[in-house]
Amino acid sequence: MSETTTTIDRNDVPADATSTAPAIEIRDMNKWYGAFHVLRDIDLTVARGERIVIAGPSGSGKSTLIRCINRLEEHQSGQIIVDGIELTSDIKNIDKVRSEVGMVFQHFNLFPHLTVLENCTLAPIWVRKMPKAKAEELAMRFLEKVRIPEQANKYPGQLSGGQQQRVAIARSLCMEPRIMLFDEPTSALDPEMIKEVLDTMIELAETGMTMLCVTHEMGFAQAVADRVIFMDQGQIVEQNTPSEFFNNPQNERTKLFLSQIL
Ligand code: ADP
Ligand code: MG
Repeated sequence: MSETTTTIDRNDVPADATSTAPAIEIRDMNKWYGAFHVLRDIDLTVARGERIVIAGPSGSGKSTLIRCINRLEEHQSGQIIVDGIELTSDIKNIDKVRSEVGMVFQHFNLFPHLTVLENCTLAPIWVRKMPKAKAEELAMRFLEKVRIPEQANKYPGQLSGGQQQRVAIARSLCMEPRIMLFDEPTSALDPEMIKEVLDTMIELAETGMTMLCVTHEMGFAQAVADRVIFMDQGQIVEQNTPSEFFNNPQNERTKLFLSQIL
């Protein structure tokens, strides 16, 4: 954690910026990895409370797009505005955005030497300066939400993959984010564990959380997405409501993709 991270108060964000702006606004954004043009002319506005599923073939830029939204990757042109805060090289803005955006990865990225409870309280205590007892109370609340409060004192290695991923979701929620990003959260799980994680995500969606989910789980997309975005070769090729997207795809690349996965 950088020195500046610990000094940011999430309440620094002006109320007017947070109340009226879309959750996420991306305008004409481009990103390169060296000479490789990985994201091309991305335009995307995400409303508050909107649930978006991002689909597309491997290598199409889905992870890179998600990672640009909390500045794990840097974009080179265009704008990314999260909760009214523009992502520039200003570290203060980056820290503000990261305190509002939770992220869950394919590989759960829990700290193996910390218990479930300690994984959940670490950032609230060190980043948000929350007293330990309060952080533990908050963590238990979210562990109950993801239905594993009884695992609080175990280490990640003692849990199943599905349980670890639910801990990762609870850990993110402990920072009380306004937006949650998911990058293939069920791809590393055995089939019998996928449902428990998807059910957790569905419950989160029902709370009104703004969510962007990269996933191949098209049943999940049909059930909770307000909009499905299809990416190919670094571009948003097509976007629509789930029913239109699945039943009436317009683009040839979307049709090909759907014929391969459905
Ligand atoms: P997806 O998540 O859709 O599979 P990614 O965003 O991971 O796609 O990757 C998009 C493209 O960028 C791929 O061709 C990938 O090989 C490339 N790529 C991803 N990360 C890097 C990196 N750090 N450096 C260079 N190329 C990368
Ligand atoms: Mg990816």
